Amino acid sequence: MKYDRENIFARILRREIPVQPIYENDYVLAFADISPKAPVHVLIIPKGGYVSFDDFSLNASATEIVEMARAVGKVARDMGLQESGYRLLSNVGPDSGQEVPHYHVHLCGGAPLGPLLAK
Ligand code: 5GP
Repeated sequence: MKYDRENIFARILRREIPVQPIYENDYVLAFADISPKAPVHVLIIPKGGYVSFDDFSLNASATEIVEMARAVGKVARDMGLQESGYRLLSNVGPDSGQEVPHYHVHLCGGAPLGPLLAK
């Protein structure tokens, strides 16, 4: 799947749509999900244009991959979730219901999250 430069997260990265960063560096941006599914629901995205984890894991540089992993851990700690715990989720493609075709990790926590998947 070709990367769509007009997807909503690409527009957020270009600041065509306002965003309040929770964390940002040269490689990643983290911001609150507009429709939170948990008391804490943060989206962490790479600044590079990757459609999904499949694209990212295949084509991103080692630096981008490390920076993404480090950022997810940092945001979780910064949000105070280290002890209580949290869930990471990334949808890939149609069966997952991925809505936005720019790789992102959902970081959810702040309360018991229940079963992994809805029935
Ligand atoms: P997906 O289903 O692709 O894994 O998740 C996309 C997520 O992006 C959804 O949880 C949705 O609420 C969130 N989202 C969609 N549009 C926007 C937006 O314009 N701003 C923010 N902050 N989140 C968005």
